[in-house]
Amino acid sequence: MTRRAGSSNSAEPMPVLFVGHGTPMNAIEDNEFARGWEEIGRQLPRPRAILCVSAHWETSGTRVLAMAKPRTIHDFGGFPRELSGVQYPAPGDISLAQEVKGLVTRAQVGLDQGWGLDHGCWVVLRRVFPAADVPVLQLSLDHTQPAARLYEIAQELDALRESGVLIIGSGNLVHNLALAEPRGGDFNQPFGFDWAIEADALFRKLVAERRDRELVNYPALGRAVQLAIPTNEHYLPMLFVIALRRKDDELTWFNAKPVAGSLTMTSFVLQNPDPRSSK
Ligand code: ZN
Repeated sequence: MTRRAGSSNSAEPMPVLFVGHGTPMNAIEDNEFARGWEEIGRQLPRPRAILCVSAHWETSGTRVLAMAKPRTIHDFGGFPRELSGVQYPAPGDISLAQEVKGLVTRAQVGLDQGWGLDHGCWVVLRRVFPAADVPVLQLSLDHTQPAARLYEIAQELDALRESGVLIIGSGNLVHNLALAEPRGGDFNQPFGFDWAIEADALFRKLVAERRDRELVNYPALGRAVQLAIPTNEHYLPMLFVIALRRKDDELTWFNAKPVAGSLTMTSFVLQNPDPRSSK
């Protein structure tokens, strides 16, 4: 994967990115995951805007952020004050929010002026696009809808790839905080329980083999997956990403490691290696 210049003005489809975000400390700590995000940032073409689907914005009904200057939301507790002071002052893009609303027919999309950028979004973007000069929107997860409907909504966003918008799903494939063992409070402890490793490997196999239907119907995937997804908000952003895959997209994994026993940082990019063969 190499950076290509000028993509925001061409018909080259934007890559799509899934990021395992883990602890908010990854915004300020120098570690391998943060460095993985920085490396991806150097490789990605510059988007005209970013649409982020974060595990941390669940709503009743689908909403898209429509704010000119979204605030940075510090939606966590128990972390150092340094983290609470971090701002990610990227602009919003209200006309793009209206465009997103127009693209989606499978849900009534509400324009939102109350949210902002939650940590699922800004913790990652601070590393991927540190200049905070690309407009950012968020699309919420409608917790009243089944996974299959969210997958269909995501498919309707395909035209955004054509117009220079980078869509990012931010969650964690394996995410069971109740079972986490952050020794010394460190959620980046490099180890995984057997079931976490098993579930992550299964997810990677199914993504690689384009077995989207099975990924959407994840409750049928067995006990390891049930432990990996006690609640689905960190898993669903990944479905938005695979829903946007085109046949020629190449799959690249990064940060594929377990942490604190019960989380995995596994992340991937879908990108067309040869834009001329798109669609
Ligand atoms: Zn999270």
